Amino acid sequence: MWAPVPPGRLLAYHGTRPCCRTAAASLAKLILTVTKLSGEGITGQVDFTSHTDAVVAVAIELVNVLTPGDACGRPHRPPGDRELPPAVTAALRAGRGEVRHVSADEAAGFRPVAAAIRAVFDAVAAGQADTAALLVNDMLATTGARPRLERHDDQPWHLHFHGAEDSLVTGWAAGCATGLAVVLGGESRGRLGVCDAPRCDRVYVDASRNATRRFCSTSCQSRVKAASFRAAHRPR
Ligand SMILES: [Zn+2]
Repeated sequence: MWAPVPPGRLLAYHGTRPCCRTAAASLAKLILTVTKLSGEGITGQVDFTSHTDAVVAVAIELVNVLTPGDACGRPHRPPGDRELPPAVTAALRAGRGEVRHVSADEAAGFRPVAAAIRAVFDAVAAGQADTAALLVNDMLATTGARPRLERHDDQPWHLHFHGAEDSLVTGWAAGCATGLAVVLGGESRGRLGVCDAPRCDRVYVDASRNATRRFCSTSCQSRVKAASFRAAHRPR
């Protein structure tokens, strides 16, 4: 049975492995519903649907684990071939708890997927909305993402997104692309972000009440605060 990630968990996804109880009928089937802003303008709280939460969380994990750069002030090297399968398995479990262990070949297939998703976040962070949209459209086309209403496990009809073929990599890539499309095509398009802290380029989705998030994690937020404090109290 599908067990969605609770709304709000996105804040804690960097560097964590949220624990979810779940199993899905098919790993290649990614379930999404339309992004919904619950009460925005009244409470200001973003409330992605749980299904969108899940695939966007996986997209973020794939970028943060598999793409090189800096993480919280230190160089980040993606896992080598030996460490890659468990790392990818853990990234997928950020959205779905009971994902089987991925094979070495499957894990390698996620490297270009993560790079493609990283390019979308970078474009958004650079204010290049047109580029971000084109990149997501490319991913949708490449993966052959296709919507389909399905009903199972006593659930009501709901929207699934499949890839052109139901391999693990294509299925997840199609789902991640569709999750990004849902976010970028809606009112929450400004909520994808790249960490603003020095020596960090990890990514996040801003689920904060006032859309004021700037950092990938509380670690980076604390680093920046501490640096500001030191600068303000430095003897002159
Ligand atoms: Zn950071």
